[in-house]
Amino acid sequence: MNEQVVIVTGGARGIGFGIGTCFARKGARLVVADLDLDAASKAANELKTHGAADAIGVRCDVSVRSEVEAMIERAVAVFGRIDVLVNNAGICPFIEVMDMTPETWQQTLDVNLTGAFHCTQIAARRMIAQGDGGRVVFITSLAENVTGPAQVDYGASKGGLRMAMAGFATALGKHGITCNAVAPGMILTPMTAFHWDKPENAAFLKTRVPVGRIGTPEDIGHACVFLASPEAAYINGVTLRVDGGHQAVCY
Ligand code: NDP
Repeated sequence: MNEQVVIVTGGARGIGFGIGTCFARKGARLVVADLDLDAASKAANELKTHGAADAIGVRCDVSVRSEVEAMIERAVAVFGRIDVLVNNAGICPFIEVMDMTPETWQQTLDVNLTGAFHCTQIAARRMIAQGDGGRVVFITSLAENVTGPAQVDYGASKGGLRMAMAGFATALGKHGITCNAVAPGMILTPMTAFHWDKPENAAFLKTRVPVGRIGTPEDIGHACVFLASPEAAYINGVTLRVDGGHQAVCY
């Protein structure tokens, strides 16, 4: 059992909870950082039943610098250190760009991109002070490469997040801190359930994704656990696509 201290932002549900579950099975100590304290605390308690050595829920809006500072301080106060940060918190308003307000545009960038900047910079300062390396995983998306009329803000944020990941990789590698992205394909979560609940969309999925099924939050969690493992120490600055082959299809 390793007892890595792992922070998962947006960890109360969906992909974030799947990531927490996979780390919990490895015996990690988990910090579930999310907007809703009750949901984060409930998720943390559930992660203990999956094998987490310990887990706490912390309220944190990643787009608010002071809240990120407080969340990292709490993690260190409780567990004494930080080994892994997973920048998972994200939003996707699904609004056509020509109808989008500047406020919605800004909010998407604030949460998906600037939130990861705050979390990574503040957590990495702590990892550097610890002196024995660390791991940062950024949850991007297919939308780091491809987009659509109702995902212009989202694609811009995720493309930016991919480059932020690469930039942090160049800055932090000398401290033994690796930065990589996991780009999920289509994953069934509360964010996307409204879409995949429709039979015609579910049927489309089978034709579009070579492995013929929608992804699960734990498909993403397994990739994060790998990137946080000692075996991944020389992997830095890359995106690992976990999409069942979706982006490999040329039609
Ligand atoms: P969900 O909406 O199901 O879960 C997101 C979690 O993040 C929620 O608990 C939410 O809280 C929380 N959250 C939202 N905003 C903030 C914030 N400002 N600070 C802290 N926490 C916040 O989304 P998914 O699990 O589907 O997505 C997780 C990540 O994966 C996102 O970055 C998303 O872009 C990415 N992704 C998802 C894909 C998919 O198919 N589902 C595909 C590709 C990428 P609350 O519930 O209170 O709003």
